[in-house]
Amino acid sequence: MTKTAEYIKTADANLLHTYNRYPIVLEKGDGVYLYDSDGRKYLDAAAGIAVFALGYNNKEYNEALKRQIDSLIHTSNLYYNIPVAEASEKLNKISGMDRVFFTNSGTEAIEGAIKSALKYAYTKEAADDYEIIAMEHSFHGRSMGALSVTGNAHYREAFGSGIGHIKFARFNDLESVKKLVNKKTCAIIFETIQGEGGIYPATEEFVKGVRALCDENDILMIIDEIQCGLGRSGAMFAFEKYGVKPDILTLAKALGCGVPVGAFLMTERVAEKSLVPGDHGSTYGGNPLSCAAVVEVLRQFEEKDIAGHVKELSPYLTEKLEELKARKNHVKSIRGEGFMRGIELDIPANDIVKAAQKEGLLLITAGTNILRLVPPLIFEKEHIDEMFAVLEKVL
Ligand SMILES: *Cc1c(COP(=O)(O)O)cnc(C)c1O
Repeated sequence: MTKTAEYIKTADANLLHTYNRYPIVLEKGDGVYLYDSDGRKYLDAAAGIAVFALGYNNKEYNEALKRQIDSLIHTSNLYYNIPVAEASEKLNKISGMDRVFFTNSGTEAIEGAIKSALKYAYTKEAADDYEIIAMEHSFHGRSMGALSVTGNAHYREAFGSGIGHIKFARFNDLESVKKLVNKKTCAIIFETIQGEGGIYPATEEFVKGVRALCDENDILMIIDEIQCGLGRSGAMFAFEKYGVKPDILTLAKALGCGVPVGAFLMTERVAEKSLVPGDHGSTYGGNPLSCAAVVEVLRQFEEKDIAGHVKELSPYLTEKLEELKARKNHVKSIRGEGFMRGIELDIPANDIVKAAQKEGLLLITAGTNILRLVPPLIFEKEHIDEMFAVLEKVL
């Protein structure tokens, strides 16, 4: 048995079977390339699901983490630490938010956002039946709260009624949101660009309309930019393009570039009426190691103008996608912005993912028939060309 087959056998014998993994054992990475345990090289257009934005084996990032490991990894939130002070200041500055709570994942950021909104409403008038409006085809995570606002019945099916008091509107259909608003509505949650649901950007009319609706009724607008935030759309935050600001913002994925960290952020206006000591906590959240990653990631984003780079290459990527669509009958439509793109096919997307792997390209899907392109944000023109050469071939 080869080493690779042995690793796979061991993992399959011990891990809970919640994923159908591809038979590839990834061992190391360099820039936008990954190498498996047989030494095969792959161009990575998946970035560990939109996470590793700055590329693998990034020397400065690795050094920053090593320095932090050598000084202090964990403290708990009973004390202050240096990276959490720096990370919170930087993050508020670039997002225009005022208060941040660090979590260990995107799902936990959503949990915190939901609790923040419920507490905000409760502070105004104590009640336990406040409602949240979420969107169909949304994805916000797998814990019971995050699952409850995830608009995919299949994911929720076996797990009871969730946290309750959640209503689903149609994404990009303002009227469908308006119909659900009542005196009990405390928050409206949506992704600026739906990710898992199939790469659907929100329309300007929708985002501005929801903002106005929230302002008129003192409802909190929760924007989930766990996937589309931090440069991926070609702006630091996708919501910037609409000229609006959320009341609560959730981030994760690229925030730590691989070190597990997420965050929920809010404006001072919300914070004043929301969570207070005793309402929320996390043993790991905001620990020195994860916050050192955040500080270094944000430093590199600024230094390299990552959002600007994505914006600059975005038209070229669009051009290549248009060409592919014109040439390949299996391509039904193309969607998305920046380095977050969807290619809708009339065949199972997973077949293409597997064929691309054989050609040395890692891709992911969104749903059954959509290929999702979420490469590291340091992708250059030559990498885009390399990716399309494989797509041409396998399609
Ligand atoms: C990935 C994702 C989440 C969940 O984040 P985890 O880190 O997997 O818990 C939530 N919302 C969106 C939009 C996501 O893409």
